[in-house]
Amino acid sequence: KKLGIALLGLGKYSEEQLAPALEKTQRCRLAGIITGTPEKVGKWKERYKIPDKNIYNYQNMDSIRDNPDIDIVYVVTPNALHAEHTIRAAKAGKHVICEKPMATSVEDCEAMIAACKNAGKMLSIGYRLHFEPHHQTFMQFGKKKLYGDVQKIVAENSQEMEKGVWRLDRERSGGGPLMDLGIYCVQGALYSAGANPVKVAAKEGPKTDVEKFAEVEQSIDFQLEFPGGAVANCRTAYVGSGNRLRVEGKKGWYELEPAYEYKGIKGKTSQGPMGLENVNQQALQMDDFANCVLNNKPTRVPGEMGLRDVKILMAIYEAARTAQPVTLKW
Ligand code: NAD
Repeated sequence: KKLGIALLGLGKYSEEQLAPALEKTQRCRLAGIITGTPEKVGKWKERYKIPDKNIYNYQNMDSIRDNPDIDIVYVVTPNALHAEHTIRAAKAGKHVICEKPMATSVEDCEAMIAACKNAGKMLSIGYRLHFEPHHQTFMQFGKKKLYGDVQKIVAENSQEMEKGVWRLDRERSGGGPLMDLGIYCVQGALYSAGANPVKVAAKEGPKTDVEKFAEVEQSIDFQLEFPGGAVANCRTAYVGSGNRLRVEGKKGWYELEPAYEYKGIKGKTSQGPMGLENVNQQALQMDDFANCVLNNKPTRVPGEMGLRDVKILMAIYEAARTAQPVTLKW
């Protein structure tokens, strides 16, 4: 049996990545859509053969509870809307995949976890790189200490952001590049270190375009300190470019560049090229979640992981605001 997924929010990520990936999945399929933009319906209906009864808007989406074609709702709206959409989907009796960052506050993340738990539904976060061979290898290197104890991590994820988009509007994004791109550095650092950070320090960069970045940071540099003393130096910005994850152990190093792309991730180690293939990350991610639902197994990217990361993002902002390191307790 293939589980039915309804995409909620038909923006760029749904249209260009998730819907095409759903044509490659084995255990799930694109069964429905939830959109606030009626003009998008025709194109999606035709392209993906979606019946009218599986098409919803934000007003009537709660009635999705009566639709057995839909097993999972995939929330792909602006960050600040993830909580409302996840909670409504759970209350309508559906399992949920929610995009990163999970939400824009710790309280929202907790409410999302509680809503799914109360409804007896599973919740996962769209952390596609957990299904990507280079990143999976980094997790293993750290665990097996193949290059010795991890001592230093360097991560950057920066790219230019166009004007006038919700990502620059604090109310909908919850913050700038840290929420959107820096979260990949946080994730990469944590699974490379194999631990949660105990201390964070951060400094916001100067704004060269004060109008464009009126509401959110233009760039931020941050440092995560792990138990045992390993340190991750990270940078994320909506100017310039950078896409890298490097880990230095006592006995060697390994690095990905580009590190966080959908395709074309390249890895090398102090012993040579990694030579791993690129995969359809989103297809593997969604199939894994469908398998978890079908077999009642926990997902490796649960809501609790999304909550953990939002706690770290908030600590980074606090450290930048106060110019003081923030200690984290787990
Ligand atoms: P987008 O701007 O292309 O799409 C956002 C969608 O939300 C649009 O269809 C828009 O109509 C809808 N929407 C509903 N209410 C809205 C509102 N009040 N304001 C603006 N739009 C509203 O954005 P996107 O790039 O598709 O990102 C959507 C989510 O997916 C974000 O949370 C983002 O972080 C995440 N994302 C994840 C990845 C990944 O690799 N995992 C990649 C891209 C985006």
